[in-house]
Amino acid sequence: MGAARLFVIAAPSGAGKTTLVKALVERDQSLRFSISYTTRTRRKNETDGVDYLFVEKEEFERLRSEGALLESALVFDNHYGTSRAQVERHLAEGHSVILEIDWQGARQVRESMPECVTIFILPPSLEELERRLRDRRTDSAEVIERRLRDALGDMSHWDEFDRVIINDNLDRAVNDLLDALAGRGRSSSTSDPALREAVGRILARS
Ligand code: 5GP
Repeated sequence: MGAARLFVIAAPSGAGKTTLVKALVERDQSLRFSISYTTRTRRKNETDGVDYLFVEKEEFERLRSEGALLESALVFDNHYGTSRAQVERHLAEGHSVILEIDWQGARQVRESMPECVTIFILPPSLEELERRLRDRRTDSAEVIERRLRDALGDMSHWDEFDRVIINDNLDRAVNDLLDALAGRGRSSSTSDPALREAVGRILARS
């Protein structure tokens, strides 16, 4: 077993990040997934303490002012934050940790823990991103429109990350992600010219 490391995975909504991260944790059971605090309302398919730690705004502010959050951000009108204690406990127990957070949070973690590896997930195309967002039945049309706009903004930050995974095929993306975690397969490295070209193609077709 290698040393426990911190991995930050970010993606626009609709890139398929949640499915990918679930498949990843199944493939590598030594990984630990950080459960974030959020002030967002719980969705019907979510469980408190499993998907998120759902808290009131006052509680969130208290956690933040006490320094209990490794990073925090306002995303789509809701506050989100990573529990510092949770991450430290997993690392101390020898488990690598996955943070599934947005690009603003990724920036903060990169500053405070520069040894982390940051990974950005992109959808195979903007058309596919839009289709995935529309297929989600849990959000209203208005919410979907805004998520789509936000997703375009989020994607502009891909170049701040160490690695980029294009999620066109789940199996391939999981393997690419496992390679990225193991430090193998430089083809997902943000500095790889072929990858940069592929990302450029995805983002150009708007
Ligand atoms: P959702 O509300 O759809 O579950 O997540 C919305 C966004 O918040 C996603 O981009 C997700 O990655 C991000 N997010 C979830 N937890 C955290 C967190 O702890 N910190 C930050 N910065 N972003 C988070």
